[in-house]
Amino acid sequence: MGEFELIAQYFTRPTRRAVLGVGDDCALLQMAPGMQLAISTDMLVENRHFFANVDPHTLGHKALAVNLSDLAACGARPLAFTLALALPRADPAWLQPFSQGLLALADEHDCELIGGDTTQGPLNICVTVFGEVPVGQALLRSGARAGDDIYASGTLGDAALALRALQGTLALAPQVLASARQRLEQPTPRVALGLALRGIASACADISDGLLGDLGHILERSGVGATVNTSVAITLLAARAYATGPHGSNGSSFSTEQALQCVLAGGDDYELVFTAPAARRGAVEAAAQGCGAAVTRIGVIETAAGLRLVNERGEPVENRFASFNHFPA
Ligand code: ADP
Ligand code: MG
Repeated sequence: MGEFELIAQYFTRPTRRAVLGVGDDCALLQMAPGMQLAISTDMLVENRHFFANVDPHTLGHKALAVNLSDLAACGARPLAFTLALALPRADPAWLQPFSQGLLALADEHDCELIGGDTTQGPLNICVTVFGEVPVGQALLRSGARAGDDIYASGTLGDAALALRALQGTLALAPQVLASARQRLEQPTPRVALGLALRGIASACADISDGLLGDLGHILERSGVGATVNTSVAITLLAARAYATGPHGSNGSSFSTEQALQCVLAGGDDYELVFTAPAARRGAVEAAAQGCGAAVTRIGVIETAAGLRLVNERGEPVENRFASFNHFPA
């Protein structure tokens, strides 16, 4: 199968919203009046972001999901995306499920594949997404103010737990691993929640590298500090419901320390961390309920710079939780 046959077979479909899709030198999108274009790129590299033997269907899903998550964090509605793909070989047994996983999620969000690039090389997947947001309404990292509540959506840390189990550094019972692995390999981008939080959240980011690290970006860009309650945060680990303590009843084994590490610094969650004025608590709850997403209040924004952790009694907890960094100092 040649390059153009491959593109035609797996990555070309009739255009819907785009003025011009796959097949020309550029794709064309018509922006609606009063809308700004939100753009984000995320790359997935073999053995760095995924294992070489990962199911191609889930890989296709994840390649787009991590990008949609960035649009969600900005409160932008997905419109379209491009796909830059380096492939070791043109293998239909890989391309078929990969494109299916990718395009199924694209359809779910009405986000159109409008172009890309295909080359031979070590497996590397780079998606760029385009979304729309009314002028001035994008959720930014820079809007948090002292007194604002800090929230996280959904559950946190299960993806990191699965990663550790797959790497062999901790044991999980089969059914715990299965649900945690689902979080790692097929994350759910919180697009509806991001849209619902427009006009309510003061700042927002998606959690890709770890809760504290991504919250740290909000603090830095907003010029504020925060206190986070670790005893609330740890409840966000879904796997904890199945296995607690060093030897869970069903054969899973992870300590409270490991659970905290996964929740606070695990990464790959693709949930949202956001802030909102305390006066908007009702609006936050209504927004979350309206799109079937859970949100949990985990802390508060403060004037004093820095990130402080406390336990259930309000006593300080040492911050020993470093989020992921591709180039650690
Ligand atoms: P160019 O020579 O201008 O770089 P290409 O020959 O690489 O264009 O690609 C031909 C057409 O196929 C272009 O419209 C491009 O956007 C599209 N395309 C290439 N690879 C992909 C892909 N993986 N997914 C979707 N569209 C693709
Ligand atoms: Mg090209």
